[in-house]
Amino acid sequence: MVIKPRIRGFVCITAHPAGCAAHVQEQIDCVLARGPIKQGPKNVLVIGASTGYGLASRITAAFGSRANTLGIFFERPSEEDRPATAGWYNTIAFTQAARNAGLYAANINGDAFSDEIKRQALDVIRREMGPIDLVVYSLASPRRVHPRTGAVHKSVLKPISAPYSNKTIDTDSGIVSEITIQPASEQEIADTVAVMGGEDWELWMAALEEARLIAPGATSVAYSYIGPEVTWPVYKNGTIGMAKNDLERAAKSIDAMLKTHGYGRAFVSVNKALVTQASSAIPVVPLYISILYKIMKAKGLHEGCIEQIQRLFSTQMYNGSALKFDDLGRVRIDDWEMKPEVQNAIPEVWEKVATENVAELSDMGGYRSEFLKLFGFGIPGVDYEADLEPHIPML
Ligand code: NAD
Repeated sequence: MVIKPRIRGFVCITAHPAGCAAHVQEQIDCVLARGPIKQGPKNVLVIGASTGYGLASRITAAFGSRANTLGIFFERPSEEDRPATAGWYNTIAFTQAARNAGLYAANINGDAFSDEIKRQALDVIRREMGPIDLVVYSLASPRRVHPRTGAVHKSVLKPISAPYSNKTIDTDSGIVSEITIQPASEQEIADTVAVMGGEDWELWMAALEEARLIAPGATSVAYSYIGPEVTWPVYKNGTIGMAKNDLERAAKSIDAMLKTHGYGRAFVSVNKALVTQASSAIPVVPLYISILYKIMKAKGLHEGCIEQIQRLFSTQMYNGSALKFDDLGRVRIDDWEMKPEVQNAIPEVWEKVATENVAELSDMGGYRSEFLKLFGFGIPGVDYEADLEPHIPML
């Protein structure tokens, strides 16, 4: 089968196995080139391990610190004549590379919100890994079936209290238009907090603790975003922002739980805005990312997921360094995005940007190629005319 990108709105419904493998290898090479991370983690659980920040965390732990990893993710498997989702192929490529390097790597594909997947993970950890010294919580999901109540919660990306109007871009057509988003109802806010807030992270940590599978000195981290004022109504002060506040609440409660048992620390790291499957679904944000990329690239400050996480591990979490917290107890690896010289350059471009000049004023081209890359397309050296078998079993 010759696999081509098929884009529907903000997702690509196909993925290229060889391209995904090349994308994973690029990230492994980046970590190897930056050298070993000393005093790094050795036994790592990554929840949301197959794409974006979670995959970058898994790669950094394995190839920066030679860690054993267990990855949890929710991907559509391949079939005889139907490609899998990108995270499936990414995970196979990662697992092959890790095992070739003599590292332990195990995978569980299923709903991380469920008791059943937590039970399976505890079994693997107990049987094959031993106590975990790093738990990375990097889920981005549109829905959650609550394990206790059975209720289905769906997350929404909406402002709170008042409608919000701003520019947005259709990244496929390049059309910049004005969008108005109506405010969320109380129920929608509660549902978004139930999906993207911290309760499930707490359930994972409690399950690990109960099973005595947390190692002394262990760390747990979850990822958040703040960004510039232009996106606050739909992000920081919107439904997703309320969920992120809940994630920060959970970080404090997990940190206290870990300290009570003499284990270690838990915190939220605020990361940079990047093209991922999750961020491309947020209105307004892709236009901001396109403008941000142009400014950060011109200043030599641009980073992708792998550079962000490698910097987080090597300059804050490990390598003999210490965590630096902001006033609210969060680690800020979005520091380069938030530099005044970067942020001060945004409003002028934002004011002017329109369909006619978006290619010139923003890095729309860079956004698009990063987006395609998430699905394994547009990577130099990959033969996109090759007839491939899309069906590859999980390792
Ligand atoms: P992503 O879409 O690339 O990755 C999401 C991961 O979660 C995938 O591995 C997916 O398989 C997994 N997943 C989703 N639902 C699941 C379920 N029910 N069970 C098991 N696995 C499931 O997303 P991302 O952008 O890397 O986001 C990860 C975290 O980083 C999120 O908390 C996000 O808010 C945060 N973050 C993202 C950005 C950004 O710009 N992309 C910036 C800062 C913080």
